[in-house]
Amino acid sequence: MQRLAVLTSGGDAPGMNAVLRGVVRAADAAGLEVVGVRDGYRGLHRGWMEPIDARAVSGILHIGGTILGTARSRTFRSVEGREDAVKMMHEAGVDGLVVVGGDGSLQGADLLAEEGDIPVVGVPGTIDNDLAGTDFTIGFDTAVNTALEAIDRIRDTASSHHRLFFIEVMGRHAGWIATYAGIAGGATASLVPEQETDIDALRERVRDSFDMGKRFCLVVVAEGEPGGARGVASQIFPEDSEVDLDHRVTSLGHMQRGGSPSMRDRVLGARLGDAAVTALLDGANRIMVGEVRLELNHCPMVDAWSEQSHPPAHLFGLLDRLAR
Ligand code: ATP
Repeated sequence: MQRLAVLTSGGDAPGMNAVLRGVVRAADAAGLEVVGVRDGYRGLHRGWMEPIDARAVSGILHIGGTILGTARSRTFRSVEGREDAVKMMHEAGVDGLVVVGGDGSLQGADLLAEEGDIPVVGVPGTIDNDLAGTDFTIGFDTAVNTALEAIDRIRDTASSHHRLFFIEVMGRHAGWIATYAGIAGGATASLVPEQETDIDALRERVRDSFDMGKRFCLVVVAEGEPGGARGVASQIFPEDSEVDLDHRVTSLGHMQRGGSPSMRDRVLGARLGDAAVTALLDGANRIMVGEVRLELNHCPMVDAWSEQSHPPAHLFGLLDRLAR
């Protein structure tokens, strides 16, 4: 093995640059060259690759997003698109690929490795934390902290006005961000796709919390919850409702993706970037590197993307018990 390629794909996640630096520096230490692929799979099948050396990744650890760029590519979903990608890698003399991304990106990576003759190793990079084979994905910690900062600000205004806020957070089909942000932000409830929402019980609960003397009430809603925060609010307080607490709905949106990565995401990114290079040198293919209970973990790529990870039920119980 002489030359690796690395790309970031799907939704950007803070910490992807730490992975890039980890890959480039670990490869450099092992005497390998690296080419960086621009804009994920879109750049791969078009041959947008440039050599990237140890100096080129200086001073990027603190930068959010991904300096390589990312994209969602429809062409790569076709066999022809992936054939072009393999051809481009051959032309560039690439004999191993590291893909950093979420479940879709890893599914694409798995197909690419299955159909082509170049080994591929995946690194979990998504704010959603919805991949199996790793306790945490790169970007999750920063995204939760960003959501939390916004929730803290909302609490200030909610408290001043004695208001109820429904706050929608990201996370796709998983409730990881909503659960962690809810516990850390002192929410009265976090509504997640993993648990069915009892609208009547929630209405009672928010009413009770003001009756108990609370000055504010925060309900965190995962984007995967049917109808989102607006839908939940309108179910709790339909137009003909007798109960109408002073409430507002807000969606945190894409701000959750941005910002400088946290220590955890930088360290995890560094470790897994380095581990991906070691895995390729050891002959691994179609696996994802991850961290489980602080130990390095290799799992088949197919498990990582097909077995979705969800927050453990004990965290829902914790939030419930403490929200009083
Ligand atoms: P995030 O979880 O942050 O949204 P992701 O990696 O899941 O990231 P996707 O948009 O699902 O993001 O996937 C990124 C890219 O991976 C797609 O644009 C497409 O090029 C490729 N991809 C996704 N699914 C497949 C698939 N089934 N077959 C081939 N390629 C795929």
